[in-house]
Amino acid sequence: MPPDRSCGSCTQCCQALEIQILDKPAGILCHHNTGTGCGIYPERPEVCARWYCLWRRIEALPAALRPDRSGVIFSLESRPPVADSPDAACIVGRAVDGIQAFDRWEAVEAFAMFVREGSLPVWKVSDGDATLVNPGLDTARQ
Ligand code: SF4
Ligand code: SF4
Repeated sequence: MPPDRSCGSCTQCCQALEIQILDKPAGILCHHNTGTGCGIYPERPEVCARWYCLWRRIEALPAALRPDRSGVIFSLESRPPVADSPDAACIVGRAVDGIQAFDRWEAVEAFAMFVREGSLPVWKVSDGDATLVNPGLDTARQ
C-alpha cells in the first residue's frame, strides 16, 4: 500500500459496496457513515477494515482517479459482476455516479492500463450493466 496515499474525504466504497454483515445493499450509503468517514471506525466490520480500492493500492494511478473525484471505483474482485458466474479474479471499474465517468481521461487511461499490463479480465459496471473490456479473457463464460 503506498504509504502517503489515504482516503481523505472519500467515502465512496461505503455507498457502492454490499456489506452483508450490516445488511447493507450495494448503492445505498451505510447508515454508519457520517458524511466524512465511518462513525464506528474502531469497531467497523472486518470486511470494511480489510477492503481497499485499487486507487489506494496502486501508486501509479493518478490523484484524479480517487473515486470521489473520478466517479469510478476500481477493485480487485473474486467473482465477475454477472449473475451465476463462477469464482474468478477480475478487475472491476464501477461508475458510482453515472456512466459518463467512464469517458474521463483518468478512467480511460486506468482501464487501458489494467488491460495492457494485467492478466485479469477487466469489467465496466454502471447501473447494473456489466461489460467485459477485454473479451479474450472471458473467464465468466468458460
Ligand atoms: S473508495 Fe477507495 S479511496 Fe474511497 S474511501 Fe473507499 S478505499 Fe478509500
Ligand atoms: S461500517 Fe463504516 S467503513 Fe463499513 S461501510 Fe459502514 S461507514 Fe463504511
